[in-house]
Amino acid sequence: MQEIDKLRAERNAVASAMKGKLDLARREELIEQGKQLKEQVAELEGKLAVLSERLQQEGQRIPNMTHPSVPIGSEDVASIRKEVGRQREFTFPVKDHVELGLALDLFDFEAASEVSGTKFYYLKNEAVLLELALINWTLSQLLSKGFVPLSTPDLVRSTVVEKCGFQPRGQNTQVYSVEGTDLCLAGTAEIPVGGMYMDSMLPEASLPLKLVAFSHCFRTEAGAAGAATRGLYRVHQFSKLEMFVISRPEDSDILHEELISIEEELYTSLGLHYKTLDMSSEDLGAPAYRKFDIEAWMPGLCRYGEISSASNCTDYQSRRLNIRYRPATPAVAAAQQPPKSKKVKTTLPPLQFVHTLNATACAVPRMIIAILENNQQEDGSVVIPDVLRPFMGGLGLIKPK
Ligand code: AMP
Repeated sequence: MQEIDKLRAERNAVASAMKGKLDLARREELIEQGKQLKEQVAELEGKLAVLSERLQQEGQRIPNMTHPSVPIGSEDVASIRKEVGRQREFTFPVKDHVELGLALDLFDFEAASEVSGTKFYYLKNEAVLLELALINWTLSQLLSKGFVPLSTPDLVRSTVVEKCGFQPRGQNTQVYSVEGTDLCLAGTAEIPVGGMYMDSMLPEASLPLKLVAFSHCFRTEAGAAGAATRGLYRVHQFSKLEMFVISRPEDSDILHEELISIEEELYTSLGLHYKTLDMSSEDLGAPAYRKFDIEAWMPGLCRYGEISSASNCTDYQSRRLNIRYRPATPAVAAAQQPPKSKKVKTTLPPLQFVHTLNATACAVPRMIIAILENNQQEDGSVVIPDVLRPFMGGLGLIKPK
């Protein structure tokens, strides 16, 4: 870059020199010099583009640092931060969400399998109302907390996917790519939302930026063989509301705590029994510095299942996406005051990378599982959580038809 800048400066000098009165020989000499400099700049720019791409690729291989409190090891060493509620005791044989939902005519897996393949589903009847109620109620809660709503594109460029720390290529990729294009189906709104701020310089006063995005999520679930896949648990496409926060570095730990407490408040209001976990180092993936997952009790599946995940990615994504801000320092404050003497220093502080955080507000399929399985009645009907009823036209019970 320095070499390119130097050559550009030389080109400018040549251009200025040509403005004066010159004899023919000197003019031709300068034209020739200008031509050569232009070619050299073009050649170096080509090399710079290749090097920049390589630097990105190398950067992709380096995971984020790890918060000092993160439990080191495999997923078994995750530590429990909080436990809310307890497992409901049933006085009748418990059904899982598939059995309940099929009896109540809420799902069609057979048609989905014909039309799209396995791990797809149709929601029907009250399940459609439940999906929209979950999204709308959650959104209303987040709007009241000052989050700015977004609805994002489903297709994103593979370069943006990479910059967010996901691998669009390779054997076990979770990312669907559209053949013949450089587009991928977004696995989470974190990608289009992060990408929206790519190459930007944010005013410090605008931070933290708190966004909540509605999106469809697409996942190949490659390598998930053997994992729990029944019904809605692990599917290729689902709707999700995702919180995304852009902050100053010094605020990200506290905002991470705020995001997890918002998630806890939401799931408590829905009446779920859950545990909050501080995830272990081997479960962090490349971008996360620290990750808190919430697992809700799913009595039909007879186990706890992950319903949400909140990650502090510090500057991992912002370095790759090039999202920065200029911190205000005493020098800037001084620059904004009328100068007492001409010697006041007005040098601007260096630009810094922001921190990014993301957290699930509502990933619909697993919320439907938790609600159906926990709220089932002996006759197969399902009680709708109080908070969702106004968003379902007052419906309080899904009854067998
Ligand atoms: P992630 O973005 O991978 O942290 O996932 C966020 C949330 O989305 C998880 O906590 C799950 O509730 C949900 N989720 C992730 N993958 C799937 C899937 N394949 N099918 C259904 N829900 C999913």
